[in-house]
Amino acid sequence: MAETIYDVAIVGGGPGGYTAAIRGAEYGLKVALIEKHAKLGGTCLHVGCIPTKALLFNAEIWDHMKHAADYGIDGIGTPQLNWAAVQKRKTAIVDKHVKGLEFLMRKHKIAIIAGCARLTGPAVDGVHTVDILSASGTGETSQVASQVTSQVRAKNVILATGSAAKLLPGLVADDRILTNIEILALTEAPKSLIVIGAGAVGVEFSSIFRSFGAEVTILEFLPRAVPVEDEEISKELTRLFKKRGTDVNTGAKVEKVEKTETGVKVSYTDANGKPQVKEAEKVLVAVGRSPQTGGINIESIKAELDRGFVRVNEAQETAEPGVFAVGDIVAGLPQLAHVGGMSGMVAVAKIAGRPFRPVRRDRIPSCTYTEPQIGSVGLTEAQAKEKGHTVKVGKFPFAGNAKATIVDNHDGFVKIVSDAQYGEILGVHIIGPQATELISEAVVAMDLEGTVDELMFTIHAHPTLSEAMLDAYGAVEGMAINA
Ligand SMILES: Cc1cc2nc3c(=O)[nH]c(=O)nc-3n(C[C@H](O)[C@H](O)[C@H](O)COP(=O)(O)OP(=O)(O)OC[C@H]3O[C@@H](n4cnc5c(N)ncnc54)[C@H](O)[C@@H]3O)c2cc1C
Repeated sequence: MAETIYDVAIVGGGPGGYTAAIRGAEYGLKVALIEKHAKLGGTCLHVGCIPTKALLFNAEIWDHMKHAADYGIDGIGTPQLNWAAVQKRKTAIVDKHVKGLEFLMRKHKIAIIAGCARLTGPAVDGVHTVDILSASGTGETSQVASQVTSQVRAKNVILATGSAAKLLPGLVADDRILTNIEILALTEAPKSLIVIGAGAVGVEFSSIFRSFGAEVTILEFLPRAVPVEDEEISKELTRLFKKRGTDVNTGAKVEKVEKTETGVKVSYTDANGKPQVKEAEKVLVAVGRSPQTGGINIESIKAELDRGFVRVNEAQETAEPGVFAVGDIVAGLPQLAHVGGMSGMVAVAKIAGRPFRPVRRDRIPSCTYTEPQIGSVGLTEAQAKEKGHTVKVGKFPFAGNAKATIVDNHDGFVKIVSDAQYGEILGVHIIGPQATELISEAVVAMDLEGTVDELMFTIHAHPTLSEAMLDAYGAVEGMAINA
């Protein structure tokens, strides 16, 4: 039988890889998807976006149940948290979507190749060869045998190998020192938790376990929580976290993490330079994620690396012709599932010779699914000023929004950063109810180059949380209706 030469071989079955695979098949390409994990879905589906959001939904319900009587629901007594059932629901959600992915792969006739991929060098006569090594275990912790079991040949290769949690020097993850993997597998909800790092992952787990009653301490090295967000968002999140009883420490430099008889002890220097010690049952290390570009023999091709991340052009192509990189391994892009997906679609459009729009850094929504939620896109106020814009800001608090009152969640605000001269929207920053849904309107408005004047006259249904957006656009001109 003649050897199959694929149009594209994709390494990694996370959101970057599987999206590229499906779109490639939709374009009529012959696609192979190589995955070392036993199941498709990557970090996002197994130990990232989906399980965390499942737990956050449980936490939200739990928060409501604690106040059931306020909503006129009597007779519940004292709600009891059944952690095993919480975990079971989370696993069922993940499993359902794994099956969904498997179905989509069959539907699109995508060849799934199980094993760990390793590049063999540049293409020979226009064809790349990828070695397949057998792998065992799961995802970020899978073990790779050194034996090559087969080879895949393809005209193009897309690298979508994702990222893995960083640990502090000298630490090894176990049942008390946790990364996103171990914390999602806990058999009991911890009564106390120290979270090192107040980026999206750190604050989301803080929010979940605070809702479930844990004593939560956040230690963040930088001067503010969610440091990539607008400064006012960081301030509001910190204020609301503290109001919910979370101990937020910024400017805190962790010196040592040790295990005690029953838990963990973290020594750190606080923002005033004073040594401090904090003990808890568990510690979560959420200090960022490293690109998984080691072990794939990337050195054998011309691809350029930037501290382990792969440099690409606007079509996601590396310096090696016919080799593309998408998702968490790409230099200069935020590590988000939707960025993985879109960069995958761009790469495969280029391979298929179809039109595409490059991924625009300033059009990427950033969502943090805490209580309160955060949704943002574009420039922060400080960044807009740094870029030389004369900035006009409009801010509207959810306190003035009727739907926010109805859903009993009126903390937070919508902030519009615009250019004073033409009313161009430069950035939108939302903290409060459904911020992660509301931000989509802003992304579309910015993509279509909507101005403040136009958006002030865009009809928003009543009563909705989205009216807070309308009021915020009005606020840019000092003309909000409800504040
Ligand atoms: C706790 C947590 C919560 C998150 N929540 C969100 C969220 O709410 N929203 C959001 O947008 N993002 C979120 N993220 C980020 C999101 O998970 C990542 O951005 C996304 O998974 C990246 O997709 P990817 O395809 O680049 O890589 P991954 O999802 O990491 O997939 C890479 C795949 O490649 C496979 N692989 C690696 N090397 C090889 C090899 N040599 N051969 C074969 N297979 C290989 C891996 O097994 C893996 O399946 C979260 C992350 C974490 C950790």
